Amino acid sequence: MATAPTIRPPSVRQTRNLVNGEWCESHTGKSFDAINPATGESIAAVCDSDHHDIDSAVSAARRALEVGPWSRMSARDRGKLMFTLAELIEANAEELAGLEVLNNGKPVSEVMAADVPLVIETIRYYAGWADKLTGETIPVDDKMGQFLCYTRREPVGVCGQIIPWNFPMLMTAWKWGPALACGNTLVLKPAEQTPLTALRLGELASEAGFPPGVINIVNGFGETAGDALVKHADVDKIAFTGEYKTAQIIMANAAPTLKRLTFELGGKSPNVVFADADIEQAVNGAMTGIFFNQGEVCCAGSRLFVERGAHDDFVDAFKDRAQKRKLGDPFSPETEQGAQVSQEQFERIMGYINTGKQEGARCVTGGERFGDKGFFVKPTIFTGVKNDMRIAQEEIFGPVVTVLPFEDTTQVVEQANETMFGLAAAVWTRDISKALNFANTVRAGTVWVNCYNTFDPAAPFGGYKFSGHGRENGREALNAYSEVKTVWMNLD
Ligand code: ADP
Repeated sequence: MATAPTIRPPSVRQTRNLVNGEWCESHTGKSFDAINPATGESIAAVCDSDHHDIDSAVSAARRALEVGPWSRMSARDRGKLMFTLAELIEANAEELAGLEVLNNGKPVSEVMAADVPLVIETIRYYAGWADKLTGETIPVDDKMGQFLCYTRREPVGVCGQIIPWNFPMLMTAWKWGPALACGNTLVLKPAEQTPLTALRLGELASEAGFPPGVINIVNGFGETAGDALVKHADVDKIAFTGEYKTAQIIMANAAPTLKRLTFELGGKSPNVVFADADIEQAVNGAMTGIFFNQGEVCCAGSRLFVERGAHDDFVDAFKDRAQKRKLGDPFSPETEQGAQVSQEQFERIMGYINTGKQEGARCVTGGERFGDKGFFVKPTIFTGVKNDMRIAQEEIFGPVVTVLPFEDTTQVVEQANETMFGLAAAVWTRDISKALNFANTVRAGTVWVNCYNTFDPAAPFGGYKFSGHGRENGREALNAYSEVKTVWMNLD
């Protein structure tokens, strides 16, 4: 990875809600603290909203959708606004990166190499789609030539978007891109832990010229602001990224209003290494797979399966690399791993590490806190793991990986699929048949062959089973943000 530029913690410019193009305090005047995970100290007080604030934002979004300039704007002009937003993000990249590091705890090297470029590319990719969303003429069974039948692609309407704290800026881009390209209006509820970059993106969207009410941002907690968005009768769709247990609550709460729902949820992704693989490359992949973003990645390769013949050598090399990983100040350009996002998340990870030890797994490295302030956890590897242990089945969302040996392809595919999740999977081998058989039979939304964590806004992403509904990114996401209208015209 190229050395990251020196970026200092920027000052926080915005902590309020964006409603109808205005920055406003919440209805109650209450606030909560955004915390710096590297120190545990407060960065800023962010306004705490409830159903009144959601109500105002949804009304603004509805007006913008139906009567505002957005409703009359050509698709090409919508795309131009999005291109302008991408340019502004690029121009303010270092400030945005600094805010993300400050509020999330991730290292600046990763933010500049992954988050920031992907955010810009996502907005640009969908800007390009805005004027390319076409309907079709349908060849209906019409012997007399009486009918013209065609389809139109229209926005779903007002979209509620609820995002998590692991990639606050990128999740905002994944949600805004397809929604805006399709002509929707939106209300974003950032995660309460990490609101700061979404708010700055909101400022940049206003600067780009998005009309009032098209993009609204309401800060607050899931049980209050999030819940109100999900239950609101005038919201047409909820796009949610987070835990499957929250998705279950959202699904139940959205049922009375029969909202459209898309979910991108958790994972326990198998990362499978055959003995014939390039082992050095596979070790690199295992490192990226589990330790990227402190393991706070829904598609983290948290279950590593290594073919018996290569197991011991692989574990030695992997352990060596994990022990050399540089933890520390997320603003230092050399840092490879920063802090977990919150005290709560830190405790949850440490709880799982203790569970693993109690279940009889062997912790070969890590297993403890790093330093004495902030929420840092050392890269942790467990061997001697059985597939039914809690640490091998439950999503930990931290830098903790379980390693299991396997005997052959049939066994490893069965074990890989023995999970409630199905977000991603990876396989390392030089044998193309093994790779393709695995790719075809594993039940996961993304399969990586001899690579891990490669992303592109054009490539669909989403899960099977408890990992989600629908797909984000690519052309697929446009389907989730548009309705198809069929028009029959009698030509007689
Ligand atoms: P985590 O527990 O890792 O924070 P969550 O799934 O709880 O993951 O959070 C993801 C997002 O969902 C956050 O923005 C959070 O505020 C929101 N959220 C949590 N609970 C609810 C809920 N009951 N209704 C709507 N949104 C919620």
